Amino acid sequence: MTNKSKVMLIDSLINDLRRNYPDWPSTFSQCMNEGCVNGARGGRQCIECIFNELMELTGNDSHVEILHEHIYRASRARNTLILRAKEKVAK
Ligand SMILES: [Zn+2]
Repeated sequence: MTNKSKVMLIDSLINDLRRNYPDWPSTFSQCMNEGCVNGARGGRQCIECIFNELMELTGNDSHVEILHEHIYRASRARNTLILRAKEKVAK
């Protein structure tokens, strides 16, 4: 694999990782990878498979973990803010 195609693949996997934490209710189906039973957005790869592929591609670079944690925490923070705003409207 050329460096350019590796960079493009890593970038694409990061986008897929983000897509697995959608802002709004979304449809999930089974991960596209054979034998994997996890749910994945749009029938693509699940979070775990994407994470593992990124780790393999980057030689277990710890930045993959940092990025995933960031995406996860940002998604949770967003959902909490939206939920709190909805609660305030309901009162
Ligand atoms: Zn999977």
